[in-house]
Amino acid sequence: MDIDSPIRYLPGVGPKKADLLEKYLQIKTVEDLLYYFPFKHIDKSKFYELNSIPTEDIHVLVKGRIIDYQEIVTERGKRLIAKFVDKYAIAEIIWFNNYEWIQKFFPIGCEVVICGKPSFFFNSVSFVHPEIEHHDKFMKNYIPCLEPNYSIPEKLKEYSINSKFIRKLLLYVFENIGEIIDPLPQDIINRHNLYPLKDALKYIHFPDNYEILKKAKERLKFDELFFSQLPLVKLKIERNNTIKGYVFYKENDYYTKIVYKNLHFTLTKAQIKVLQEIRNDVVSGKQMNRLLQGDVGSGKTIVALFAMLMGVDNGYQACLMAPTEILAKQHFVNITEICKNTEIKISLLTGSTKPKERTEILENLANGTINILIGTHALIEERVQFKNLGIIVIDEQQRFGVAQRAQLWKKSEYEPHILIMTATPIPRTLALTQYGDLDVSVIDELPPHRVQVKTIHFSENQRLLMFNLVKQKIKQGDQVFVVFPLIYESEKLNLQNIQEGEKLYKKFFPEPEYSIITVHGQMSTAEKDSAMQRFLNKEAQILISTTVIEVGVDVPNATIMIIENAERYGLAQLHQLRGRVGRGKKESYCFLITPVNLSKEAMKRIEIITSTTNGFEIAQKDLEMRGPGEIDGTLQSGYTFNFKLAELSSNENLLSKAREEAYNLLLVDKDLINYPYLLQKLKQWKNEIIDWCKIG
Ligand code: ADP
Ligand code: MG
Repeated sequence: MDIDSPIRYLPGVGPKKADLLEKYLQIKTVEDLLYYFPFKHIDKSKFYELNSIPTEDIHVLVKGRIIDYQEIVTERGKRLIAKFVDKYAIAEIIWFNNYEWIQKFFPIGCEVVICGKPSFFFNSVSFVHPEIEHHDKFMKNYIPCLEPNYSIPEKLKEYSINSKFIRKLLLYVFENIGEIIDPLPQDIINRHNLYPLKDALKYIHFPDNYEILKKAKERLKFDELFFSQLPLVKLKIERNNTIKGYVFYKENDYYTKIVYKNLHFTLTKAQIKVLQEIRNDVVSGKQMNRLLQGDVGSGKTIVALFAMLMGVDNGYQACLMAPTEILAKQHFVNITEICKNTEIKISLLTGSTKPKERTEILENLANGTINILIGTHALIEERVQFKNLGIIVIDEQQRFGVAQRAQLWKKSEYEPHILIMTATPIPRTLALTQYGDLDVSVIDELPPHRVQVKTIHFSENQRLLMFNLVKQKIKQGDQVFVVFPLIYESEKLNLQNIQEGEKLYKKFFPEPEYSIITVHGQMSTAEKDSAMQRFLNKEAQILISTTVIEVGVDVPNATIMIIENAERYGLAQLHQLRGRVGRGKKESYCFLITPVNLSKEAMKRIEIITSTTNGFEIAQKDLEMRGPGEIDGTLQSGYTFNFKLAELSSNENLLSKAREEAYNLLLVDKDLINYPYLLQKLKQWKNEIIDWCKIG
């Protein structure tokens, strides 16, 4: 038998069970079975004494005698309580239903062994529904161990497929299986003191103690992380080897100097550091593929501009892509302003650019007159022809899946440098798994004198209080964003939701004293744009919208962000929304409004978001709370591995090691010619990775 053998022919399986195992647990081969890890182990390695059970958290095995039964019947139901004693103390065993057989099977006075989770109440111990067996019978089959338990769907239990069944199968496998080839190179195993694969697989099911279990898991986690990094690192190394990058050898030249003088502030240390990293890339002769992370308001636009100017100074064109028209326009306005008094020619191209203007822009792009082109994703989709595009900047990366990124830089000898910017900070571990083919820069500092946004949580019954605060602020000339949650399932419900919201606000903020603008998904882009523009021109004090304003619009005069039904948002989204205020010099607020009763999870999110404004801290908490699959908070989450064991919130160290090993290995042998088993395994993984990679 080897790992590819079908389990169908193992003793006790047969066609019926084999079909069920395949259908419900995707277990088809011995390998699948080996990788069906237990979700917990029950400590049956020793017997505990009733007076020295350490905690409530573990299952314990206890020998003793039943000395009494008592049946209690109340309105809420009936239960059976047994008095159970060992040499040292007394405990209660409780059954709530279907217990008629118990008294018959275990008459008073009989010796039994129980296994269960204790609960403590004052000084007494009790067990609810423990496993129970006659002492002699139990001891006959007893092998001291940590007993693996598997999660099994109810349906399978009907066919006697349960933890015990899986255990028996695995024991048989381990007795009969030949060698299991370890794909990991021996020197990596040695360097990190890992178990060989066969041992790890054995011990994750049948460890002698918790220490061994931990080591078995460590090895298998290493595999998960290592194989997740291999293809990403391979992509990166291949790109470095095959794609040449333009060399922007002129440094701080003409345009950069002029623009620098135009700035009315000095760059932060973090901005300078990141620009240096970009500079190193663009003179390296290799194509830059860099992800720039920086919290909302950390000043990424300026970095983007100077990166583009590195190209422009060297006679190349640059382009900046934003996810929405509004944002593209805003970048255009800002960058044009910063570049005034220079000869840099900047143009804006979006879906709503008029045909005549478009023709002109395309012409000037092709003949090289335009230096910087700003626009939406349509820029690349339409394959706009540049004369010599040297660098591309993409704002708000989370909307770009790996596959789309791959499309961006189709292989050719020379490719433009690429800088991707994201305002959703993600922990390092996620950055490495999601964007492991990129280099990462971080702006970890906000420009000085930024106002801290005060975040306050109001329950529905405090709404009036909140509205009165808002009125005071409006009196001082401030503007307000109100965000209603987007209902993805139905456009109709969505519209209804926002219309009702509008009604509510109009009641408390009546015309003509107040004026409200509403933006919603059924408006055309042009309508939305014009509404935003009117708000920017201060034609209304309140802007109601669904999350359309999420991605980065700058309205410095808006100082209040009201998030309705804040309990429905993920941490990342709340943080993003909050980042829309506090952009000017005035004191700013984020008001979260929720129903009075909140789930524990929602309450925790609200607590986190009101206690810190640090995006990286929030991202880390988010990862801990929800796991990587949902970290994005938006529906566009990119690229997630479904690790069985590794946890990105706590395995940063192991991930770094795995990545480093992957890197060193591929650097020497990028096609893994000397590692056929590794290559084979990588191919399996790569398929899965592509499956997991959703295109946002
Ligand atoms: P984001 O990183 O969210 O894209 P922006 O680039 O829009 O941030 O910058 C936010 C604001 O901070 C802008 O008004 C910008 O002019 C300003 N800013 C950027 N860098 C600095 C700096 N070093 N000092 C002061 N203000 C800065
Ligand atoms: Mg921005």
